[in-house]
Amino acid sequence: HSKDCVKVAVRVRPFNKRERDAGSRCVVSMVSSSITIQDPRDSQNRRSFCFDYAYWSHSGFTRDNSGLWVPEEPGGRYADQDSVFQDLGEGILENALQGYNATLLAYGQTGSGKSYSMVGYGPNKGLVPKLCVWWFLIEMFLMSLQVFFSMLEIYNEQVVDLLSRGSRTPGGLRVREEQQRGFYVEGLRTVPCESVEQLMEQGTRTRTTAATHMNANSSRSHMLIILQLKQIFSKESITKQSNINLVDLAGSERQRSSGSEADRLKEGTAINLSLTTLGNVISALADVAVGKKVVHIPYRDSVLTKLLQSALGGNSRTIATLSPADICYEESLSTLRYAERAKRIQNRAVVNESPTE
Ligand code: ADP
Ligand code: MG
Repeated sequence: HSKDCVKVAVRVRPFNKRERDAGSRCVVSMVSSSITIQDPRDSQNRRSFCFDYAYWSHSGFTRDNSGLWVPEEPGGRYADQDSVFQDLGEGILENALQGYNATLLAYGQTGSGKSYSMVGYGPNKGLVPKLCVWWFLIEMFLMSLQVFFSMLEIYNEQVVDLLSRGSRTPGGLRVREEQQRGFYVEGLRTVPCESVEQLMEQGTRTRTTAATHMNANSSRSHMLIILQLKQIFSKESITKQSNINLVDLAGSERQRSSGSEADRLKEGTAINLSLTTLGNVISALADVAVGKKVVHIPYRDSVLTKLLQSALGGNSRTIATLSPADICYEESLSTLRYAERAKRIQNRAVVNESPTE
């Protein structure tokens, strides 16, 4: 057993057009791994948070000929996709090879940079494609290793397989539980981790079509990519298996209800259930870590937390993404609070090792 704190990172993106047009002011600042946010209506009201990593991707950038966002000057301040991968991605590679489960969650309001960090756009490849390229390379050297890829979406507590085109099961795929394996999605398509770029493109397309179909916005759904690693050591007759869960969460802005009971009920039963429950699980785990007595961790209350149950008990990382703008102050503060809670969790990570069947 190894006891490990979760790792939490925050990242601040550049102003978007709407914010620039509105003449927005930047209300966040960073000094090494601490971040400070200032209330735009009360300059005395500042809050500072300290995380494992803080990425300043707001200013000091430029685009090169290929459209890649890079620091304006070498060694400049803009934190690009590579620096995020070095901190968050490489640790996942190492842990997973040792047989630990790993989870990486992107949390933040819609438009704050979750998909940019996880998946990326164009030449600005995010954590998922970078991880896949590495696995592909490592597989070539380690004959004992096999890596599989699957991609699903949770919308309104229904699971949609993003890799199986056309054949959508009414009501979504079933989530089942087995003693050894825990919760899993039945009948999910799993492919070798090879032509991942093409697969991801297909998955993203399916996600958009599905969203349009259900008359929804894809920012209301969670996307989960599962990399399944299997290492067979024939001499020792041991199989090591680990799952890497990469989660692009639904926008956090809906998580906060206006406070009325009716609203809470509505949110609790519909689209938000998975996100609300994730928040509750994180809070419960954080309480456990500080020695509070916790009777119940509500993993079973939503599809997302069921699927992440064993993973959240492994090594987990969160990247919380923020807008720098004054108009997003409330949302950004709420994201930072969530990230602070996530940081308190202490995980017990277990190597998933069993005799080869
Ligand atoms: P989300 O997935 O949280 O809704 P996106 O990742 O789609 O948000 O980001 C919204 C926009 O901001 C995109 O156009 C994206 O290119 C841009 N963006 C986000 N993060 C960064 C960043 N770190 N550097 C440059 N542009 C970014
Ligand atoms: Mg997104």
